[in-house]
Amino acid sequence: MLDRSTLQVLVIDSLDEQIAVIDREGTIIYVNRAWTKFGIDNGLSSEFGGVGSNYLKVCHVSGDSGDSLAGETAQGIRDVLNGKRASFYLEYPCHGPEEKRWFMMRVTALQGDASGLCVISHHNITQRRLAEERVEYLSLHDQLTGLSNRRHFDQFLDNEWRRSIRNRSPISIILFDIDYFKDYNDELGHLVGDQCLAKVSHALQAFSSRSGDLAVRYGGEEFALILGDTDYAESLKLAEDIRKAIHDLEIQYCSTKRITMSAGAASTIPDKEQAEVFLVQQADKALYIAKQQGRNRVVHARDL
Ligand code: GH3
Ligand code: MG
Ligand code: MG
Repeated sequence: MLDRSTLQVLVIDSLDEQIAVIDREGTIIYVNRAWTKFGIDNGLSSEFGGVGSNYLKVCHVSGDSGDSLAGETAQGIRDVLNGKRASFYLEYPCHGPEEKRWFMMRVTALQGDASGLCVISHHNITQRRLAEERVEYLSLHDQLTGLSNRRHFDQFLDNEWRRSIRNRSPISIILFDIDYFKDYNDELGHLVGDQCLAKVSHALQAFSSRSGDLAVRYGGEEFALILGDTDYAESLKLAEDIRKAIHDLEIQYCSTKRITMSAGAASTIPDKEQAEVFLVQQADKALYIAKQQGRNRVVHARDL
């Protein structure tokens, strides 16, 4: 029959959770099997987390080598050791060279005879975080085309707008609408219409490669480009390049017709008094004029 403490050690060693106990100074006095295995698998020396090493020092070393959460972690541990709080909880990324990983760390003060000691546990939460990332991605993207959706448009524009105010830099929006798309659908069917939307989206995406750019499916057959750091002349040229690229896709229908897009652009250097919706309205007005003037063309709001 196993004695109780042997059984407890075996149980703790069977857990995936990496567990260590530290004393008042932060010195590690006990680790479980998963903790040791993690150190070995990740090439950590025993001074970096083994029994006898100081976990607070490990945090300092990590902080010095660029770990932005190391300071917060060390403070959380000290607070638990000093009795300022009963426990401390932190989720942090720990990405490997080939895989994304996240861990959750919990620091809890031990009670009774073990008071003054703390148990630290690390738990791999990668599956949950990947699922959360996926949900966030789906909430910000259009399923058919893979482009960003309207919700992402609003978020992104808000950020770029504030960045433009801070930097006094220009920002532009271009709204696009496929010409006579109803006729295309009517002739070839909704499924082929969907394929056409995917092709147009792919072409549009190729024109939004900078970090301040975002290509969006704005509505049914309407698209938008947000262009940070982009002024009147640049937005006009880009809109024209895209109009031409879509024309050059040669997506044919009704024997002689091909898919084209009309575009309305608007640019500004925003100030605090201005709301971003103003720029969208300007681009929308320009798009309306482009349609009125015969379609397959670009109009900039400044020229109205
Ligand atoms: P205009 O040049 O004035 O823009 O003419 P239009 O025919 O493109 O405009 P209208 O607003 O009359 O028609 C838009 C069409 O876009 C009708 C709608 O069925 C089609 N559409 C919207 N969303 C989708 C979609 O997700 N898939 C497909 N296949 N068609 C769509
Ligand atoms: Mg439309
Ligand atoms: Mg249309």
